[in-house]
Amino acid sequence: MSTITKTLCPYCGVGCGLEVVRLDRDQVLEPIHLVDLVKVRGDRSHPSSQGMVCIKGATVAESIDKDRLIHPMMRSSLDREFAQVTWEEALTAISDRIQEVIKTQGADALCMYGSGQFQTEDYYIAQKLFKGCLGTNNFDANSRLCMSSAVSGYVKSFGADGPPCCYEDLDITDCAFIIGSNTAECHPIIFNRFRKHHKQEPHVKLIVVDPRRTQTAEVADLHLAIRPGTDIDLLNGIAYLLHSRDHCDREFIQNHTNNYEQYLELIKHYPPEVVAKNCNISVAQLEMAATYWGESKRVLSMWSMGVNQSGEGTAKVQSIINLHLLTGQIGKPGAGAFSLTGQPNAMGGREAGGLSNLLPGYRFVTNPQHRADLEQHWHLPAGQISAHNGRTAWDIVRGLESDEVGFLWIAATNPAVSFPDLERTKKALKSSPFTVYQDAYYPTETSAFAHILLPATQWSEKTGTMTNSERRITLCESFHKPLGEARDDWQIFAEVGRRLGFSGHFNFKDSSEVYAEFAAITRDRPCDITGVTHERLSKGALQWPCPDVERESIDRFASKRLYANLQFHTLNGKANFAPYHSKGLAEPPDENYPFVLTIGRVYGHWHTMTRTGRIKKIQQMHPHPFLEIHPKDAEKLDLTQNEIVEVKSRRGSARFPILITGAIARGVVFAPMHWGSLWADNAEANNLTHPELDPCSFQPELKACAVVLIKIDP
Ligand code: SF4
Repeated sequence: MSTITKTLCPYCGVGCGLEVVRLDRDQVLEPIHLVDLVKVRGDRSHPSSQGMVCIKGATVAESIDKDRLIHPMMRSSLDREFAQVTWEEALTAISDRIQEVIKTQGADALCMYGSGQFQTEDYYIAQKLFKGCLGTNNFDANSRLCMSSAVSGYVKSFGADGPPCCYEDLDITDCAFIIGSNTAECHPIIFNRFRKHHKQEPHVKLIVVDPRRTQTAEVADLHLAIRPGTDIDLLNGIAYLLHSRDHCDREFIQNHTNNYEQYLELIKHYPPEVVAKNCNISVAQLEMAATYWGESKRVLSMWSMGVNQSGEGTAKVQSIINLHLLTGQIGKPGAGAFSLTGQPNAMGGREAGGLSNLLPGYRFVTNPQHRADLEQHWHLPAGQISAHNGRTAWDIVRGLESDEVGFLWIAATNPAVSFPDLERTKKALKSSPFTVYQDAYYPTETSAFAHILLPATQWSEKTGTMTNSERRITLCESFHKPLGEARDDWQIFAEVGRRLGFSGHFNFKDSSEVYAEFAAITRDRPCDITGVTHERLSKGALQWPCPDVERESIDRFASKRLYANLQFHTLNGKANFAPYHSKGLAEPPDENYPFVLTIGRVYGHWHTMTRTGRIKKIQQMHPHPFLEIHPKDAEKLDLTQNEIVEVKSRRGSARFPILITGAIARGVVFAPMHWGSLWADNAEANNLTHPELDPCSFQPELKACAVVLIKIDP
């Protein structure tokens, strides 16, 4: 007999539904590994992915029992070996340290850095513990590195976060405008869904904006290989042409937008000749982009890290949204501005307030009414929640450098690979007086910087919810006993809360009770999920908004797409045009650092390879890191295929075998971001990257920096 469990792929934000078929135990030989016990396949009944799955989802079970952290471990200093301890000893040490730090440095010396790998229940309990009970907003997550510019752009343009589109739009759009996203490799199932439509309907156009000729760009009707850092020039240039050709939706602009006059004034500075020159494309290409956009009834724009990970990420996001406002391409089938989320539960984290400026239910730390809502919901005294934004990811590094952080708790993420300016980050982590690292795997690059290791359960071992890019919430059910002494993240946070004297605040029987408490605080918020329960999700995934009113009375269309009624969450209900001039790269190339390094992802690997580095099929697919370089640049530097080259920026260096390819523009090189020190020697792309922050989202400019290439003498 076999049993089937429905769950979600734990990798990217596409959020593909998976079915796990548990095979008959009697047929399995010892030693029993999960991969021998189960078969993972796409869930045909899941509306987001319709049974499709990529190599990461298909092989996920293969990493579950490899290099797992199975006991709590402790050491007194980083130069000592870890010793196994009991949960009691580890939790006592943590609660003692938190109390000592509050007494000696104050609550703002406590920091937690979490993850889009958390389930929503983990996120919520962490917010309640830190922002509520402990009174510090110093909870930030790795979504700061990938999503925060999208959050900030949506909030500024529409008055609230939340991608307005849904995946069904991929099947009905007339024109997909993909910018700063190698969707074919990084969000393959979304891309496959659109490609099917693209192939079947000859009138459907695909415009791809990327300095590299990626797999996504290969099949585009128009590939705009712009000079890195000129995205806003391009977007304003398209707006100039749409306006001059009268492709604007005047009625929509008049009735549903603010700041149009200022925007109009700005785009006058972006005539085609100027824009084409700045972007290093032809005027004909720019005109073609405006033609495709202007003549399509339904335009769907999509973006990810190439837009968000920038010192002007929010400005780029809003400049994309400006084009939708100009043409009225929002709130209708097949159209809209769609941010593709990087992590499996980046969206759930946003709903639960998992950034240092947010509170659960799309609320803001700096809003007195929002703080009061939460204080009441959490039965905490008025004024308990700090009115100040907490430390962002990069502020935690700065806080460690200035000795202002006395306690750091890192969970389900690997900053010793994923942060920018990695040497500086590692130095800061090394100086931390007390770091707790909670993860499913050991070792990771970050475990080297921890004083206490806590074993966490992961996919297959815990039950909870995740929300994907199209706002669809899926229940991920456990089907496997936790390995060793691993516990769910939310249970660990709740136990520490109880030990710190908040026993009444963390009495949850299971994660469904946690979810119910969280859902209740979303009432009448843009992300209202008061109609969602674990029980209901066990019958199928649900999209928000999903209030707990009679289902018949809800306009089903409104759940699929936000802003179908053209009412935005701003004070006057209108969306905001946002006029931005282009600032360009935070670190442009110069004579000492003449190349622009851009970093990104490959199809098989996921982020810092904690799982995928342990999966043989994926290792074979991508055996080592590389540096893409144009043939003419390679020739000029006398570099031959596969030769190792040293790449230096103002902050550090790394070495990569070169991959000579005409798919990259001259003057630009590309390296994957995945390989940390566990998987390759000195090939960490983030040794080179720049920590310049977007002033609105505080997201670092991870995507591009100036480098020099040095041939290594044989
Ligand atoms: Fe998982 Fe993303 Fe692949 Fe879907 S596309 S199977 S969510 S990694």
